Amino acid sequence: MVIKHKWIFKTESPWSDANQLMLKLDTGSWRTERPVLDKAKCNYCGLCAIYCPPQCLKDKGDHYEVDLAFCKGCGICAKECPKGAYTMKPEGGFANEG
Ligand code: SF4
Ligand code: SF4
Repeated sequence: MVIKHKWIFKTESPWSDANQLMLKLDTGSWRTERPVLDKAKCNYCGLCAIYCPPQCLKDKGDHYEVDLAFCKGCGICAKECPKGAYTMKPEGGFANEG
């Protein structure tokens, strides 16, 4: 079963409003780790996007892409993913990538 953002109530998702967006805080600056996706493991179930607190996982049609401007590095996507498709990696390893 594929779960998409459009199935979420307009005013309520598990943590925030995916349509109105909670993306007003500079949550990206809180991050000490970032989720890195192994697309080969992803089955596009959508659970990561539903549980992401700032709703910063963007639907790309066959996977979800992390918006690093708002990803706070909480790791919930990695915990919720039934396929183990995310690996949390320290920000220090991306120092030259921004
Ligand atoms: S680590 Fe995952 S769940 Fe947490 S903010 Fe980033 S994308 Fe969302
Ligand atoms: S990364 Fe995991 S939780 Fe997210 S869509 Fe892919 S399989 Fe589902």
